[in-house]
Amino acid sequence: MALIVQKFGGTSVGDIARIKNVAKKVKAELDKKNQVIVVVSAMSGVTNQLVAYCNEVSSLTKDESLSEYDSIVATGEQITCGLLALELQSIGYKSRSFLGWQIPLTTDEVHSKARIEAIDGDYLRAQLKEYDVIVIAGFQGVNKKTNRVATLGRGGSDTSAVAIAAAVKADLCDIYTDVDGVYTTDPRITSKARKLNKVTYEEMLEMAYSGSKVLQTRSVAMAMAHNVRVRVLSSFAEASETSGTILVNNDEEIMERRVITGISYSKNDVQITLVKMPDHPGLSANIFGALAAKEVNVDMIVQNISADGKSVDITFTIGKDEIERAKLAIESVKGEVKYEKLLVNEDIAKISVIGVGMISHSGVAHTMFKTLADKGINLLLISTSEIKISVLIGKEYGELAVRVLHDAYGLDK
Ligand code: ADP
Ligand code: ASP
Ligand code: MG
Repeated sequence: MALIVQKFGGTSVGDIARIKNVAKKVKAELDKKNQVIVVVSAMSGVTNQLVAYCNEVSSLTKDESLSEYDSIVATGEQITCGLLALELQSIGYKSRSFLGWQIPLTTDEVHSKARIEAIDGDYLRAQLKEYDVIVIAGFQGVNKKTNRVATLGRGGSDTSAVAIAAAVKADLCDIYTDVDGVYTTDPRITSKARKLNKVTYEEMLEMAYSGSKVLQTRSVAMAMAHNVRVRVLSSFAEASETSGTILVNNDEEIMERRVITGISYSKNDVQITLVKMPDHPGLSANIFGALAAKEVNVDMIVQNISADGKSVDITFTIGKDEIERAKLAIESVKGEVKYEKLLVNEDIAKISVIGVGMISHSGVAHTMFKTLADKGINLLLISTSEIKISVLIGKEYGELAVRVLHDAYGLDK
């Protein structure tokens, strides 16, 4: 008997027929005499609608507005976990739903993208003695200090599922979604995308971080830290031992190694440039300290010193939904950071090529730059890690860049 956490995303619970389909997937595991904990997202589109309502009444820049935002956007999952528990009852199981605070799944105070602090795994295991199957609302927890509802950032149900799997020491965390696994790139961008049977945690972390939203970045980091076995698979296909994509520890588990494993694409970044600042030690610390204090995540950073060495420009990228808070943060250090202009460029796309094979192969960057240059695509920013190269380009070239790079690295073969 294995203990399995099954997570179902928005499309998988998108209407009543699909919730009934999910109940069948749960039943299949119970029939195999496995113990099951289910984590669900809101019906697809619901969270977006709730976020849109919030944006209509608030700029959401203050902490107190973000905790209200959380109590609103968390409601989508309350509906689906209740409906699934009800359906499971209808087909003969003893089942109940749990909201984050009822477990409790406690978080820190960063509303709208709170981090999980603790989950009472013993309590959940005890519930499995009471019930045939329990259903948990993903994406939500409770702020430990204030007792208010907190959410884990968009796509956060993945992280709920992995964290719960870690807390109850589950044998497997199955992430059911609308694609049958992790692909070499988003299959919506090119039909040449190929399903990967295995991907390393490290690669998946970089892919998720740079825009492959099939898994939330934090869920991968959590799986890596707690050694949770994670599989991504479709809720619309028949599951078998070989279906989906499994996250693995290292390269050696992947026999057929390529230089590049995947290409990620993000349209959610903005580029901010602070122009002509008098240079002094501590300038960057001032800027990025203020951004960190407002919980703004910064991705790429480039600093340019003028030819005479007196002034600098700093360019960095952040998430689109953080522009207002970033502006407030920078405004708050205007006394020390005397920039002439603040430029915001939203018309950008970030393309990243990822692969552990990069460590032992040269020429990966050259292939990327040459391929893009041949299409007349200009690079605005470049950043690299051991297993990733990211470039910022004009938004209009995003999908084209993914397709030509996919071909250039032979990912379809
Ligand atoms: P869910 O609602 O189940 O959490 P998401 O929409 O969050 O589903 O994530 C699944 C989507 O991720 C897919 O429909 C696909 O378009 C997108 N995606 C982006 N990159 C990839 C990739 N490399 N492999 C698979 N899917 C990807
Ligand atoms: N419903 C939430 C969202 O749309 C959480 C999730 O789907 O994982 O972001
Ligand atoms: Mg998701």
